[in-house]
Amino acid sequence: MDASDELRSLEATGIYRLAGSPAAFVDPVRLLGESYRRFRLVPSAYYSRSFGPSRQGGEGTAPSPDRKKRKRKRQPKPRELNAVERIAEARHQEARPLLIRAHNSLLETKDLLEFLPGMIKGDECLPNVETSSENNFVELGASWRAPFYEMTICFQKPLGQVKAGTCNVQKRSSPLFNRIVSVEENDEAEGEFQSRLYILPKGSCFMMTDFTHVRDLIPDNPNIGYNLIVIDPPWENGCVRQKEVYPTLPNRNLLYLPVQELAHPAGALLVLWITNREKLRRFVEEELLPSWGVKDPTEFYWLKVKSDGSLIGDLDLFHHRPYECLLLGYINVNREAESGSKFKVLQGSQVIMSVPGAHSRKPPLQKILSEYIPGPKPPRCIELFARELGSGWTSWGNEPLHFQDSMYFSKK
Ligand code: SAM
Repeated sequence: MDASDELRSLEATGIYRLAGSPAAFVDPVRLLGESYRRFRLVPSAYYSRSFGPSRQGGEGTAPSPDRKKRKRKRQPKPRELNAVERIAEARHQEARPLLIRAHNSLLETKDLLEFLPGMIKGDECLPNVETSSENNFVELGASWRAPFYEMTICFQKPLGQVKAGTCNVQKRSSPLFNRIVSVEENDEAEGEFQSRLYILPKGSCFMMTDFTHVRDLIPDNPNIGYNLIVIDPPWENGCVRQKEVYPTLPNRNLLYLPVQELAHPAGALLVLWITNREKLRRFVEEELLPSWGVKDPTEFYWLKVKSDGSLIGDLDLFHHRPYECLLLGYINVNREAESGSKFKVLQGSQVIMSVPGAHSRKPPLQKILSEYIPGPKPPRCIELFARELGSGWTSWGNEPLHFQDSMYFSKK
């Protein structure tokens, strides 16, 4: 494919594979948009951090000259790295050539660079994402009222079932918390709750509960399960801003996630998002992944860029790397022969690049990883600690409807 074919592929599929490196640039708005027929995601709402004032902008927004001055004064003296930090630094040095190669191949791709500013801006006005008063599902779910909250789900009847002169919209009520809520395969639905509207993709499922109810996700029938399991835990760490955005969970609690029980008998690809902290990395590799039955994980990277293609921060800044890691591995791989499933070898590290959306919002992974997902097609996918829904996905967490608020969408 030449460069312009790849640009057409980005427009059509949300993925641009970069020549000369194991890297791809993705547009999450296009990838997520495939779950909708009557709605579209508003690019400027997804990429709101690229437009907001520098406080929310954080990563990706140039600091004002004033802020630069203040920052310069407060710069602590560089200190010697301790033993654990030195291991983290060595890990970074190992990844660095691959990340630089991937980023250089983006910078050399002129048609993509020219396309990016328009891609993130879109042609609709920026909705008031920062000031709008959204429902706080984490608080609502923790209240004594949680079992009594209901969502009214409105969906359109299939055309063949609409009698002349009758309404084509059907409504049903569903408990909002601690239950699996499923949306029909044929069309997206709209959920009403406390005067706000949520756009629910066709063929999506969600369960909004606290961690203590996570075992309710285990399928009754042991012969069904998930082929792609994505986990983005609320890792404990010292970052105050993260704590303000969502609650965290003691890392050891994750040992109780029923990952093996969720996996499809024909196998599953597990993807775990981790932070760059070395202690966490050790816990994950030595305890967590073995307890889930995942051996020899492969590391991929998510490299975050601005709309001009530059990195959102200095690649070598110790505590603020402009990339995050995801570990990939298979579950039930030893059943390959009996299940007839194929497990494609996860070859080497790859780099996924995108312009980041809201704090901690990760790019969708199903399409870019599709060749590695074992078992029947289309695969059954689940995201643990999700904040959004997708067709063919079950989304679980204490706020899986967070990014489904209608303010992030417009009607087609
Ligand atoms: N993958 C998400 C995205 O791309 O937007 C981000 C997930 S964020 C790292 C972790 C999520 O876990 C947050 O939505 C947080 O509220 C949720 N969470 C924190 N504590 C939880 C708990 N005890 N039970 C369920 N979910 C929890």
